[in-house]
Amino acid sequence: MQSKQSPQSTDVLIVGGGPAGLAAAIALRQRGATVTVADSLRPPIDKACGEGLMPDSLDELAKLGVQLEPSDGAAFCGIRFVHSGDAATAQFPTAGGPGIGLRRQALHQRLVERAEEAGVCLRWGRTVQFGDDRVVFIAGEAMAYGWLVGADGMSSRVRRWAGLERGRTISRRFGFRRHFQVKPWSDFVEVHWGESGQAYVTPTGPNEVCVATVARNPHCRLENLLAELPQLQKKLGRVALDAERGALTTTRRLKRVVVGNVALVGDASGSADAITGEGLGLGFRQALLLADCMQSNDLHRYQREHAKTLQLPQTMARVMLLMDRSPSFRARAVRMLASEPALFTRLLGVHLGSESITSFVRAKGLEVARGLLWPPAANHGQFAAGA
Ligand SMILES: Cc1cc2nc3c(=O)[nH]c(=O)nc-3n(C[C@H](O)[C@H](O)[C@H](O)COP(=O)(O)OP(=O)(O)OC[C@H]3O[C@@H](n4cnc5c(N)ncnc54)[C@H](O)[C@@H]3O)c2cc1C
Repeated sequence: MQSKQSPQSTDVLIVGGGPAGLAAAIALRQRGATVTVADSLRPPIDKACGEGLMPDSLDELAKLGVQLEPSDGAAFCGIRFVHSGDAATAQFPTAGGPGIGLRRQALHQRLVERAEEAGVCLRWGRTVQFGDDRVVFIAGEAMAYGWLVGADGMSSRVRRWAGLERGRTISRRFGFRRHFQVKPWSDFVEVHWGESGQAYVTPTGPNEVCVATVARNPHCRLENLLAELPQLQKKLGRVALDAERGALTTTRRLKRVVVGNVALVGDASGSADAITGEGLGLGFRQALLLADCMQSNDLHRYQREHAKTLQLPQTMARVMLLMDRSPSFRARAVRMLASEPALFTRLLGVHLGSESITSFVRAKGLEVARGLLWPPAANHGQFAAGA
C-alpha cells in the first residue's frame, strides 16, 4: 500500500472511532497504510453494552496488539441461562481461555492507546461533511482520501451517503445498561430470561457487575425488567454506580457493504441482536478482514466474506429471539440445556466457531429435537441453591 505524505491526505479515512473503527485503523496501520479516524465524540467513549468479551473476541483483539488480562476487569468462564428456577450452564472450551468483562470506556481507552501507538491520526470531537471527488471536511478542514470506511454505528451516515441502506432488519430491540456495586456471585455471564426480555449480568471488576437489559418494548427500562426477576434484583442490592444508559440493538443484513472506494464495518455494516454477545468480536473480525482486503486491493472479497462473518451470529440471534417470543419454547429450551450441560457446552462451542453448525446438527440434532419435544421434569430451586 502506498503512503501519501501530505497531512491533508490519507490512504484511509475512517468515520467513527468506536471499537470497530479503531480496530480497522490499527489493522490498516499494521499493514502500512496511513489512517485518519474522525469521531464526533471524545474518548473514552461510553455506550450501553453488556461489556462481555467472549474468548474469540479476545483472540481478535490480541491480533491487533491489545492483550487484555482478567485483572483489566473480571474473567468469566462461560454462560449461564436462568429461567424460572432452571439454570443451564455452559463452560468455554478450556483451550480458549476465559472471557473478560470490562467497562466499555476502559476497552475504548485501551483501543485509543493502541491506535496512538500504531500511528493512527485521531480527530476527536469533529463532525465530518462529505464532499465530492474523494474529499471530506473534518470540522471544516478538507482531507483527501483513497478509501473511506463507515464505522459510525447502527445509524451510519456514511451508509446513507454512499447509498448502502438497502437490506433487511430482522429484529429491533431496546437495551439499557447500569453498573452495580456488588461482588460478582458467579464467574459466568448470566442471562436471566424474563417475560418482557432478558437481563444479563457480566462481572466487570472484583466488586462490580454490569447489568444490560434487552426488550422489544422501548418502554421496558432496566428497573421494569428487574422487577420481573426478583431473585436477581435481590442479589444486585441497591448500590447502582451510574445512571441508566440506553441503545438500540438490531439484527440487520445489508445487500451490500461496499461501493466503489467506500466500505462499512462494525454495526454500520449489519448486526446481530445484543443477546448474542458477539457485536464487538464481529467488529474486530470485520476490521481485520477489511484491512487484508484493502491491502490486496480487493474489496469484492470483503463484500463476499463479510456476509459470512454475520451468518453464525445471526443464526444464533434467531434462535434466541424465538426463545424471547415464545414462553413455551423458552421454558423447554432452558430445561433441556439445564439437564444436558455437555450439550449446552457443545452449543456454546458452535457459537464461538469451534464446531460447525452442520457437524453439531448431525451429531446432536435428534437429541435436541427430543429434548425440546419432551423436556425433562422441572428442577426448581437450582438457581437459588447453586448459583
Ligand atoms: C444493550 C446492548 C448490549 C450489548 N452487549 C454486548 C456484549 O456484551 N458484547 C458484545 O460484544 N457486544 C455487545 N453489544 C454490541 C456492541 O455494543 C456493538 O456491536 C458495538 O458497539 C459496535 O461497535 P461499532 O464501533 O461498530 O459502533 P459504535 O460502538 O456505535 O461506535 C460508532 C462510533 O461512531 C461515532 N459516530 C457516529 N456517527 C458519527 C458521525 N456522523 N461522525 C463521526 N462519528 C460518528 C460514534 O460517536 C461512535 O464512537 C451490545 C449492544 C447493546 C445495545
